Amino acid sequence: VIELGMPTRSVITTCAYCGVGCSFKAELRGDELVRMVPYKNGGANEGHSCVKGRFAFGYASHPDRVLEPMVRDSIADEWRKVSWEEAISFTARRLREIQAQYGQGSIGAITSSRTTNEEVYTVQKMVRAVFGNNNVDTCARVCHSPTGYGLKQTFGESAGTQDFKSVDEADVILVIGANPTDAHPVFGSRMKQRIRKGAKLIVIDPRRTDLVRSPHIEAAYHLELRPGTNVAIINAIAHVVVTEGLVDREFVASRCEDFEAWEEFIARPEHAPEAVDELTGVSAEKIRAAARLYATGGNGAIYYGLGVTEHSQGSTMVMGMANLAMATGNIGRRGVGVNPLRGQNNVQGSCDMGSFPHELPGYRHVSDDGVREVYEQLWGTPLLNEPGLRIPNMFDAAIDGSFRALFVQGEDIAQSDPNTQHVFAALGALELLVVQDLFVNETAKFAHVLLPGTSFLEKDGTFTNAERRINRVRPVMAPQTGKQEWEIICEIAQAMGYPMHYDSAAQIMDEIALTTPTFMGVSFKALDEAGSIQWPCNVEHPDGTPIMHEEEFTRGKGRFMETVYVPTSERSTRKYPLILTTGRILSQYNVGAQTRRTANVAWHPEDILELHPHDAEVRGIEDGDTVALSSRVGRTTLHAKLSDRIPVGVCYTTFHHPVTGANVITTDNSDWATNCPEYKVTAVQVDLLAEP
Ligand code: SF4
Repeated sequence: VIELGMPTRSVITTCAYCGVGCSFKAELRGDELVRMVPYKNGGANEGHSCVKGRFAFGYASHPDRVLEPMVRDSIADEWRKVSWEEAISFTARRLREIQAQYGQGSIGAITSSRTTNEEVYTVQKMVRAVFGNNNVDTCARVCHSPTGYGLKQTFGESAGTQDFKSVDEADVILVIGANPTDAHPVFGSRMKQRIRKGAKLIVIDPRRTDLVRSPHIEAAYHLELRPGTNVAIINAIAHVVVTEGLVDREFVASRCEDFEAWEEFIARPEHAPEAVDELTGVSAEKIRAAARLYATGGNGAIYYGLGVTEHSQGSTMVMGMANLAMATGNIGRRGVGVNPLRGQNNVQGSCDMGSFPHELPGYRHVSDDGVREVYEQLWGTPLLNEPGLRIPNMFDAAIDGSFRALFVQGEDIAQSDPNTQHVFAALGALELLVVQDLFVNETAKFAHVLLPGTSFLEKDGTFTNAERRINRVRPVMAPQTGKQEWEIICEIAQAMGYPMHYDSAAQIMDEIALTTPTFMGVSFKALDEAGSIQWPCNVEHPDGTPIMHEEEFTRGKGRFMETVYVPTSERSTRKYPLILTTGRILSQYNVGAQTRRTANVAWHPEDILELHPHDAEVRGIEDGDTVALSSRVGRTTLHAKLSDRIPVGVCYTTFHHPVTGANVITTDNSDWATNCPEYKVTAVQVDLLAEP
């Protein structure tokens, strides 16, 4: 068998790309990974996979991997390879020195949604128990923080309401600002299957995604709205529901509160489709037809993505969708719900694990004395009761000199965060930047310490997917760096004088279960027995919770919230007449750190600018031309692709490549409640360049 090159052993683990969380059987010959086979018993994928999960694992053994720690005194110096002992003592000493000089709040950390729950938990514990502040934030800040806020306000829980299987029972599927075919392919296929079997589809998106029209799929309605008008559209849909007598009065009366005030608000004439058709670019007739279909077509299920959250009103829009689901009784049973399609593999988990600056694990506010006391007793140290800095606050404070040191866990903020120039200025101003990552990424170019991280093939722990499913990530091979990432965090904590130690990742999960009510029934043993578990898992829900809010909402009554539409300050002008919006393609993943280093997925060496033929023609631009894309904050160069997938006045690009760098263009505008950047609306100009 070995001579034929066949695998000799296998390990069941979880894909490290998107929030679908597919399970795979990693098949090995000796220590060599031969192939990833989609696991038929995987709770999220049931034997299916996409190109990334199946083939894009080559980055784990790429020669660019950093396998030894490196330090340097200044970013002008060359990196110096050092022992783990030296890297950890250097990091701990510099963190303590900086705190002694600038104060307890002068340091902080950013956690990653690419790492395990256990790794995230240890970082936030280090910040709270060792740094003595709450300056910890997660990369979810720049993607789904409005989901956390909006769903907590309305339903009481910062998480999607359904399992993926639930879509099989949906009669009307409302997809808003999401492109599951490219970004969540396995779930996208399941959704398409349901549509082929008869479910009706409504898509709200400025761009004509594959879902709108592809073989055997045709959306009943495509509401091709102007970027930045989401809230106006959702309010108009809700207006139709209220004024045409489509409210599920029984559900609202028994399950919800604050309905009357909301009903009066939403019934106002300014929310009528006819009042917003010009603003949104969608005809009143189409809005009305879509609203009627969602409200009367049977089970109505909402799925949404970053096209909802990455706006100045991202949180308002999340609450608007929750209002609509409650008003029509589309919540609390199979086939309905409000469901965020999470981008990264562990966005849900990184948020669950307490890496927001205002929340301890399980979304409990740091000002809650009772919750803090639990951790103070267990961790043996007093905890601060005031929220710490969010990522953009950290950047601002770094520039003004009050924030001096940052620990970044597995996240390339220099490429992924908006207004690159501002991020570079902040990173360049730090006295100490510690990066824990697989590669010398764009952020690491500003770092003083590089702590090599582990790939998903080396990790031992758990990821939590978009349907709250906790999946085991089992080590397929030993860490190539010699250490698990959580071990490194513990060693830094110890070197800073705090006794932090775990024998295993399982022990960290035991501590999470001990202190977090929604995780009480979770352990590695329980996960191994069940395959996976959807939280909440506790005494009330011993087998986990596929569908939330069945009998009552987590907060008791579902709360209607007034969602006033406030236009973004980012408007097209004579100088910047087009609106740029951003997204992803199937074969690439976020900033491309992994997929760019994998030979066996189609690599597109650059991001491309999609431009409507009309906008191209008036600028003398032809397909393939090199163009300058500029906004009020920056300028970059791309090749143009003419496409009628986008409306006149809108252009579109991806952010997978550091050279073309879409975030050189995006602005500092952000969601009013959570500071999630407004990646989806940037006023730009496009000019033909004579030469590439
Ligand atoms: Fe991985 Fe997502 Fe593809 Fe599944 S759908 S294999 S989780 S990238």
